[in-house]
Amino acid sequence: TPPVPALELMSVSHSYAARKALDNVSFAIQPGRFAVLLGLNGAGKTTLFSLVSHLFATGSGEIRVFGYDISRKPGDALRRLGIVFQARTLDLDLTVRQNLSYHAALHGIGARETRRRIEALLESIDMGDRLNDKARSLSGGQMRRVEIIRALLHRPSLLLLDEATVGLDVNSRATILADIRKLVQEEGISVLWATHLIDEVNDADQVIVLDKGRLMADGGVANLIEATGAGTISEAFA
Ligand code: ATP
Repeated sequence: TPPVPALELMSVSHSYAARKALDNVSFAIQPGRFAVLLGLNGAGKTTLFSLVSHLFATGSGEIRVFGYDISRKPGDALRRLGIVFQARTLDLDLTVRQNLSYHAALHGIGARETRRRIEALLESIDMGDRLNDKARSLSGGQMRRVEIIRALLHRPSLLLLDEATVGLDVNSRATILADIRKLVQEEGISVLWATHLIDEVNDADQVIVLDKGRLMADGGVANLIEATGAGTISEAFA
């Protein structure tokens, strides 16, 4: 039998009043994959993330996280998710450790395990020496990486990131992508990375393309290039 997908959308639609933000979208992400959700502004990426994280209910269709229906078993589904939203969400007046400890406490992680996990995760991204610094003193890229680590504290199986590199310079973007790659390998998690930036597609195991709420493509980078007859990924989506 095939493995249970990390994430599965079945004929998902969603409208805001008369505006259709998602139109009959279906796809599946297999465990351990790094999937990129590519779409321009207004494509429906944030709406899709809101539905998967159960911020509001799906208009129609079904969403499953490791087999758990998000509307019927929200607790089981949400415990398996880690989410990095588009907006900045660290408390700038707290230290890195305080920002992370608070989240760990919300997830019922004990004090000793919290300390160990925070130190190991920060070390893995070379930020072990920033533990007691105020979040305010970090660069934009470092703040994002702390947010990513925060989303991983409770050992989710699927990490969702919405435009995680917006506003960051080229170096920070590359660092974050490399960190994510490493974490995917070390923690064995699946990732759905939403972006409008074509150059963030190159590393993906799977590319899901949304346009005005519709699924335009779903496959490996090579398949997409082949399907469109283009020589490079940028040409394929030009
Ligand atoms: P962006 O990167 O700009 O956030 P997106 O791909 O995330 O774009 P969504 O934010 O999901 O796209 O928006 C999809 C469509 O739904 C857009 O046409 C948007 O204007 C509309 N929309 C989103 N949120 C609402 C809302 N709360 N009320 C009405 N329309 C909305």
